[in-house]
Amino acid sequence: MEERIIMDRDLIRGTRVEINLDNIEFNIKEIRKLIGGNVSIAAVLKANAYGHGAVEIVKTVIDSGADVIAVATLSEALELRNNFNNIELLIMGHTPNRQLKFVIDNNIIQTVFSYNQAKILSEYARETKKEARVHIKYDTGFNRLGFRDCDDSIEEIIKINELPSIKIEGIFSHLALKNYIEDKKQFDKFTKVIEKLKSKGLKFKYDHICDSISGVDYPDFRLNMIRPGAIIYGLKSYKNKEFILKQALTFKSEISYIKEIKKGESVGYDFSWTADRDSIIGTLPFGYADGYPRNMTKKGEVTIRGVKAPIIGKVCMDQCMVDLTDIPSALEGDVVIVYFDGSNNTVSIQEMSELAETNKNEIVGRISRRVPRVYIKDGEIVKVKEYLLD
Ligand SMILES: *Cc1c(COP(=O)(O)O)cnc(C)c1O
Repeated sequence: MEERIIMDRDLIRGTRVEINLDNIEFNIKEIRKLIGGNVSIAAVLKANAYGHGAVEIVKTVIDSGADVIAVATLSEALELRNNFNNIELLIMGHTPNRQLKFVIDNNIIQTVFSYNQAKILSEYARETKKEARVHIKYDTGFNRLGFRDCDDSIEEIIKINELPSIKIEGIFSHLALKNYIEDKKQFDKFTKVIEKLKSKGLKFKYDHICDSISGVDYPDFRLNMIRPGAIIYGLKSYKNKEFILKQALTFKSEISYIKEIKKGESVGYDFSWTADRDSIIGTLPFGYADGYPRNMTKKGEVTIRGVKAPIIGKVCMDQCMVDLTDIPSALEGDVVIVYFDGSNNTVSIQEMSELAETNKNEIVGRISRRVPRVYIKDGEIVKVKEYLLD
């Protein structure tokens, strides 16, 4: 083989996720309606936009009304910067000292929670005649990242503000979401710090503490920016029943092989499933390396021809088997809805998360590179992202 393989629609694996861009647009517009025009949206596109493909959805997200794109790591920010020159990018996580120069060189906003890092950013920015843009992270009790809640921290933030070539554009904190009482304590701590800084003459462009759940359920906590992740994709864990969103992602596959086995025959590793009747078995071309949880073994179901088919035997790395005995019309090549939003007898991501004993974000965040992403707009495929052939 001498030439590079060119992407062709026929090359797209049957195992794929479909991303409905209209639903992402709908969700961001609904978020905008909910929060009004005075609160900015830092759309969280970390973890490849929760599996949805960050590069491919940025345009939809910005065009629908997001102000800033937030990610977790420098590499995520650089992936987006490589593709988009003019978007505002915020790294919410820690960036090691040795990498801070890349942040400035690429006009990325960095989260900072130590004077030392601010000084490194300031010095490099001054040397290169650029500006270091930062958001201060303040810890109100989550105990992950952030300045400790004490007067020394206030002094350090004041000192950072006095450094040359650095601009503090925001201050933020993160809620533990234990319950309203605990969340309110964190929020009050945060607003107290904002007030204290204000009394010393420091006021930044953005104050923010809300993620998806708190941004929907605690209107009083929104300040002038929220950082929604899950709700952009239509993943709902908030309580507000009137706030309707549309899930963007469907995980699909197709039947690769159907066979009949006799009562007493077993299926898969360890022969962990044995037929208690003559059975029809379907083999499906996805497994745990695609991001389908291995612990769906014994618990999982998929939807074929509108009917649920149970996963039988152990979920393998690249394949799994289903019992099709009660869906005798099923054919090789049939579409399999592995999960969607629960409509049309599909397994929802919520159900997946409960069965797999995790949360919805992990179910989608773990979908691997081997699964092509197919983007749908106005009912048409507008783009296919096949990571392995790019
Ligand atoms: C991931 C993340 C968010 C978004 O969380 P969701 O629950 O998906 O809305 C917001 N803020 C920070 C700091 C995060 O790490």
